[in-house]
Order: sequence, then structure tokens, then C-alpha cells
Amino acid sequence: MTKEVSTARGLTDTQARAIEGAAQAARVYREELPQMPARPTLDLDEAAGRFLGPLPEAGMPEDDVIAQIVRDASGGLHSMANPTFFGYVLGASHPVGVAADMLVSAWGQNAGSSFETPAVTGMERAVCDWVISLLSLPPDSGAGLVTGGTVANMVGVMAARNKLLSAQGWDVEADGLFGAPEIPVLIGQDAHSAPFAALRYAGLGAARVQVVETDGEGRIMPDAFRKALEQIDAPPLVVLQAGQINTGAFDPFTDLIPMVHERKGWVHVDGAFGLWLAAVPELEHRLADVQKADSWAVDLHKWLNAPFDAGMVIVRDRAPLVASMSARGAYLPETTVHWEPTDSTPELSRRARGIPSYAILRHLGVTGVRELVARHCRLAERIAATVSAESGLAVLNEIHSNQVAIACGDDGLTMRVLKRVQERGKVYPTHGEWAGRQIIRASVIGYAMTEIDADLLSAEVINAYRWCASNPE
Ligand SMILES: *Cc1c(COP(=O)(O)O)cnc(C)c1O
Repeated sequence: MTKEVSTARGLTDTQARAIEGAAQAARVYREELPQMPARPTLDLDEAAGRFLGPLPEAGMPEDDVIAQIVRDASGGLHSMANPTFFGYVLGASHPVGVAADMLVSAWGQNAGSSFETPAVTGMERAVCDWVISLLSLPPDSGAGLVTGGTVANMVGVMAARNKLLSAQGWDVEADGLFGAPEIPVLIGQDAHSAPFAALRYAGLGAARVQVVETDGEGRIMPDAFRKALEQIDAPPLVVLQAGQINTGAFDPFTDLIPMVHERKGWVHVDGAFGLWLAAVPELEHRLADVQKADSWAVDLHKWLNAPFDAGMVIVRDRAPLVASMSARGAYLPETTVHWEPTDSTPELSRRARGIPSYAILRHLGVTGVRELVARHCRLAERIAATVSAESGLAVLNEIHSNQVAIACGDDGLTMRVLKRVQERGKVYPTHGEWAGRQIIRASVIGYAMTEIDADLLSAEVINAYRWCASNPE
């Protein structure tokens, strides 16, 4: 009897409490975040040990499961969503995106098909249109919502592969790569590891690519690039970069892209975070002509601060994107929105991962997106100015976007300073290597970061440096 009643309202009491408990725990976590240490207090063995072991024979009520997860995760989570997190290049899961993300799971939509879930398709299509428009990319481009930058790069490279080979009369989707004409691939020597992975996944090989010399900021040098192109006879695939991981710099698109197109090649841009500068009128000249490329990879879970599992591939010519990604039968009709989600991503079934980004974009509006990106670039300059004013500390890069590469007198000292900053637990930058040196890398990207956080980062680095310099090991 009880069972029938609860089934009639869709949820049992324990299920309802589980959902409410999770929402409440989410809220409490984010409210308490500023008081929490910037890094986990438990090590991997302690934190993971709470969860490992055999699956118990007996199950557990749903609300108790949520309570257990919340309790046992405590101390083992990293405060990545806090504006004191300057590590890697990570967004901070904007709360409106988090809230929308809960709906994504609750609705349980398979976003792969527009025929079954038209509202989701509408929101995801809006995200694609809005991002394309914000970044001033060609309005008729094809786009796919993927898991992140790495997969966005992979899909872009696969679309390129389709087009470059079909131009030589080879159908790579039907016949694969064995016996196919070669595709020469060029990439800058300071490219991120993700496009190398993408090339590997696409069967183009990470090691057979030709790596082109870059300047002190990690930008491809046009003369070296021209020379490299002259050695090549087939139309190449060229991977350029908008936002070098250590310096935040941009390849010189104005010089490079026409050289590739003269040779009927394809330009793919890894713009995981840096492409967002194209949304800001006073900054977009830094990546002028990036829109002339053929495909772009951009993350939504970095600068847009969407919860993780959010990236986007954009391809000027939609046909090779669909040819390389579509898993559906060709007989299915086009929808009224002329966009079938599964045509542009590797997955067939997937979560409605575009909805958190829809919520964030709708919340910010064009003005909010511009303000966010411009503020972070300003804060990066502020950090660079403060830190480099301390004698003994150096900022190794020019500030092109939101990345600051900090080094001390020698590598050993730099690493000690970083360790001390991290251990103090007030702010959390991470490590990098640049110009043959170890660096402390600060990435200004969390939606809530202000001058207070930027100044705290600078002060922590300067104080740790002074302490380490006067307390040699
Ligand atoms: C983060 C990043 C990637 C990889 O993106 P993921 O979302 O981590 O897969 C690729 N390129 C650059 C420049 C990045 O910063």
C-alpha cells in the first residue's frame, strides 16, 4: 500500500530526501567554501580509502547514500571552485551552472536526439549559436558540444582529416587511413599536449607531426613557418594556438592562416581558454583573424566557468564535421532547427551537457561575458606588476591574457616557494615549465576572482619567497 502511494508521486520518501539532501549539501558546500583550506586536508590514501573496498552485500537507502558521500568526501575535495584557486586553467563551476546541472540529471534526457528532447535541443543549439556569435566565428559554422578541449580538438582534427583526404579523392570514413594519401601536419613547439593527443586519436600520429619553432612567448614564428611549409607538397593540417598554457599568448593568425590557405590546407585552432578574448572588443585585436581558421576547439568549463564536462568544437564547413561524426542513418529527416546533436559529436547517447552553459550565458549576457574575461586579464596584469616589483622574483611572460609565469632566482627556490604557498593553503597556484625553467603558474579564471584574490596570490608568493630566501634548506 505505502509502496503504491509513493510510486504514484514518482519518488519514495528516501528518494525525495536524497535529491533534497544533495541540493542542500551543494548549497552548504559552496557557502562554506571561503572558510575551507585551499587544498585537500586528506592525502590520496586517506581520502580514497574511505570509498575503496568490496561492494557491501546489503544496499542502503538513497538518502543515506547521499549523506555518506557528503560526509566521506569532506576533506578530500579541492577548493577548485573558490576564487583562491589559481592552478592549471580551470573554471570554478558557476553556481547557476551547478543548479542547471542538477536539472540535467533529474530530467534524464538523452541529448543525442532532437526528435526525443526538443527543449534540450533548443537550449544546446542556443549555446552553440551564442558562443559562435560571442567569438565572432562564421555564423553558419557547424558546432558540437563535447566533454572538453581535448575532445573538441580531436573532433576538429577529424573534420580536417575528412576534408583534406576527400579533396584527394579518398573517403577516410569508408576506407580508413591504411593506404590513404599522407596529410602533412604542422604545429607550434609550445602547443599544449591536448592537440598532440587529438592527432594521435585521429590516427595522424603525435610523433610524425612537424613541430615549428616559436618565439619567447610561445608563438609560431612566421619565417620558420613559411620555411616549413615550403618543404611540403600536399595540403597540410596546421594546428595553431589561441592561449599558450604558460604565457597565454596567441599565434600570429594574420600572418599564418593565409599561407596555409594558399596551399589549400586546413587551420585548426586550439583555443581552449584563450579564444574567449575574441568576445571582448578591447582585447580581440590580440587574436586578430583567428576567425579565418577552419575549425576551433574551445572549453566551456574553463573561462565560461561551466561545471566540468563542457567543451565545444566549431567547424566552418559543417559537412566534414557531420561526415566524420554522424552515427545516425542518413534517412532521418533534418529537424526544423537543422541541427541533430549526434551529428557533431562522437557520442550517440549523452547527457544534456549544454544546459549548464545555457544557464551561465543567459545569466551573464554578452556584457557579463565581456566583463568576466576583461576582469581576469586585468587581474593577471595586476599580479604580474606586483610580483615583478619584488627583487628576486621574475615574471617570465608578457601578459597576453590570464596566465602569469613566475620564477625565482633558481629552480630549486621556485619549487620551494610553490610548495610553501600551496602548503599554507590560502591560495593555490600550480607548477609549470617555461623557457627551460620551473615556474609557479597563476591562472586567473574563476568567475568570482577579484583584486582581493589577486592581491592575496601576489602576497602569498612574495612572502613565501622572502621566507624561503632567508631560510635556505
Ligand atoms: C585545458 C586545455 C586543453 C585541454 O582541454 P580539456 O578540457 O582539459 O580536455 C587544450 N588546450 C589548452 C590550451 C588548454 O588549456
